[in-house]
Amino acid sequence: MRPTGRLHLGHLVGALQNWVPLQDRHDCFYFVADWHALTSEYADTSQTTAYAYENVADWIAAGLDPEKSTLFVQSLVPAHAELYLLLSMVVPIPWLERVPTYKEQQEALKDKDLSTIGFLGYPLLQTADVVIYDARVVPVGEDQVAHLELSREVVRRFNNVFGEVLVEPQPLLTSFARLPGLDGNRKMSKSLGNTIELSDDAEAVRKKVMRMYTDPKRVRADIPGTVEGNPVFLYHDAFNPNKAEVQDLKDRYERGAVGDVEVKQKLAHALNTMLEPLRDRRAALASKPGRIREILEEGSARARKVAGGTMERLRDAVKLRYR
Ligand code: ADP
Repeated sequence: MRPTGRLHLGHLVGALQNWVPLQDRHDCFYFVADWHALTSEYADTSQTTAYAYENVADWIAAGLDPEKSTLFVQSLVPAHAELYLLLSMVVPIPWLERVPTYKEQQEALKDKDLSTIGFLGYPLLQTADVVIYDARVVPVGEDQVAHLELSREVVRRFNNVFGEVLVEPQPLLTSFARLPGLDGNRKMSKSLGNTIELSDDAEAVRKKVMRMYTDPKRVRADIPGTVEGNPVFLYHDAFNPNKAEVQDLKDRYERGAVGDVEVKQKLAHALNTMLEPLRDRRAALASKPGRIREILEEGSARARKVAGGTMERLRDAVKLRYR
């Protein structure tokens, strides 16, 4: 994850909730992609490290366990950059120009000059991030499969030139439900300002829910409302474990027999109940100053060891060996 802002409910359902159970089945590596943050945010890096610490606090709050997984910082493992450089020797520029997000993002972020080598090379750095750990699988949503396909092509090209030294990573498709924003926009996103952050307190969550976008036709509680595609009910489905309550609210909403206030109060309650254990774990972590830095230093040392082993093998393969 790129440390470019605070994490929100979208990150929880789209990434973290998939990452946590993998810890019991795989040897997992999760990292703060601070160099990737620079690809678009190079002009203002003043908050990058602060977001890095905040994000890792949220990871641990959500259930990532530094005893089970390696949690680290990309720039503390410089071998990622060395491998990126080696890969860049064999990868044709058009392969990168063809990546759909390349043009899309340049269009979307017009206020930034993204005609840089760093931005073009983003998917190549991603490839290095993955293959430097001989990763067999990468947990991704549908939308990232194209990037991973590029990584696989890059590995095949590299292996063609230097011998079978890199492992082709496979996508491990995670359930990927795109969470809409509080404003009804199709995606909850920090850049749209329509988020509930994992670090919001109970009162902030309640206030945001009370202001949520809902069926605009419904100016009075006795007007029948639409449940389908209504973000308030999408959130109820995603976060309220009391299915009977949700069904009852939906029935009454469609008949015009419930006020928006009741529907939203129950949603705020469900969200706060779900977030409470995350808040407790976050507070426990905050009571130990320096603990997150320590976790990242230990994780990065472990990552450097594994990455260093891979680079030894690659230096042999590329025949850059001086002795
Ligand atoms: P980036 O670092 O590219 O700006 P984001 O912060 O948008 O990325 O997202 C990081 C991860 O969180 C991605 O894997 C994405 O799938 C997931 N994610 C972000 N927002 C949502 C959302 N609204 N619904 C589901 N998943 C999301």
